Amino acid sequence: MSDNKAKPETKYLFSHEDDSKLVGNAFLNVGKTLFGDKAFYYNSNVFNGMLEKFNENVAEVNVYPYDTDVLSPKEGGKTLFSDGMVQLILRGKKNLPQSKKNMPDNLAHHEMSHVLCHLSSKDEKVIKHDNFEKQNYMGEILETKRVDNKDSYCSYGLMYNETMMDIIAAIGINNYAPNLSITNNMTTDQLLTKPINANSHISAYDKFNAITRMSIAAFSNVTDPNFSYQDVINKGGSIFLTETQMGDGQKYPINDFLYGIAFDPMHIEREYDKYMGKGEHKKNLEALDKYFENNIRNNKSITPEQMKAQMMALSCFFNVRMEDYENTGRITREDRLHAVSNYNKTFNSILDEFDIQWTEEDQKLLVEGVKWQITENAKIKEQNNQLNR
Ligand SMILES: [Zn+2]
Repeated sequence: MSDNKAKPETKYLFSHEDDSKLVGNAFLNVGKTLFGDKAFYYNSNVFNGMLEKFNENVAEVNVYPYDTDVLSPKEGGKTLFSDGMVQLILRGKKNLPQSKKNMPDNLAHHEMSHVLCHLSSKDEKVIKHDNFEKQNYMGEILETKRVDNKDSYCSYGLMYNETMMDIIAAIGINNYAPNLSITNNMTTDQLLTKPINANSHISAYDKFNAITRMSIAAFSNVTDPNFSYQDVINKGGSIFLTETQMGDGQKYPINDFLYGIAFDPMHIEREYDKYMGKGEHKKNLEALDKYFENNIRNNKSITPEQMKAQMMALSCFFNVRMEDYENTGRITREDRLHAVSNYNKTFNSILDEFDIQWTEEDQKLLVEGVKWQITENAKIKEQNNQLNR
């Protein structure tokens, strides 16, 4: 009888007495961040549902001493996915240098964000055509093709996924464990619009998060100039799940990008391709993932030209979408002006951050709605059944 079958349970390996608290706090704070304090802390169904999923899908949580050689010096932790099960590898509290005292918690929040976003994502498959399907997979989009009777996989969305996990971890820490903050206790609105100011250390993640911040600005469905993400959290809500009613009477996520990152990466693709053309989202993401990996491996920064191309693409998307919103009565002309002004705040701060000159010619291209061609073809990442991040 299946009822009597032993339920799968996560195996834990700890190396310090505080390691279990490290994992527990990350689970609680990231859960609150994704689902809202009210739902995750005070509604036992949401908490228990997530815990059950965690126990069923996470085979092992291994917390090693902070200076472990299981992880390379560049790795803060690892979330592995193999044979349908998750394995979490973390740096714990043993042998922890005093100067790094908040790092294990921050790194554990990042890895926990990977796990909980993966477990919360819709797992529907979309069949594109014969032998070709797409699905959400560990916060990215996975395409499976059947070629010569073999499955060939490619996934994309790594850069978005990684930079957002940093942002989710920082929101979780700053709101629910502020004494552990390594980002100077920036507010949620600051974390979503400004560079992450983490101990004056600028990593690849911090650099690329500019594109993620622009995407958040471009996918917003809120036009109220006084809107604040921090207010949503202060009221116990989730910035990923809260909805707003628009002029057409329908409800939409307050931000399609935030909703998609946490619960349905393919939602972002559908929304982007709807306005920019089929396959455009994938093309952008493959280019971004390539720049991102090149930065991590070879310390090569994204160039101002590459950055400009991304800004052009996102701004085109934003403009076309806002035009559609106005035409279909979702927003008024006044709302649209507010939306543009909100978007421009992020856009202008990124021009400054990367010292990019936005020329009259650029502006002309943008206004004409000419699609920016990202010419450099990103190489499709082949992968086996294991993903490291
Ligand atoms: Zn990661």
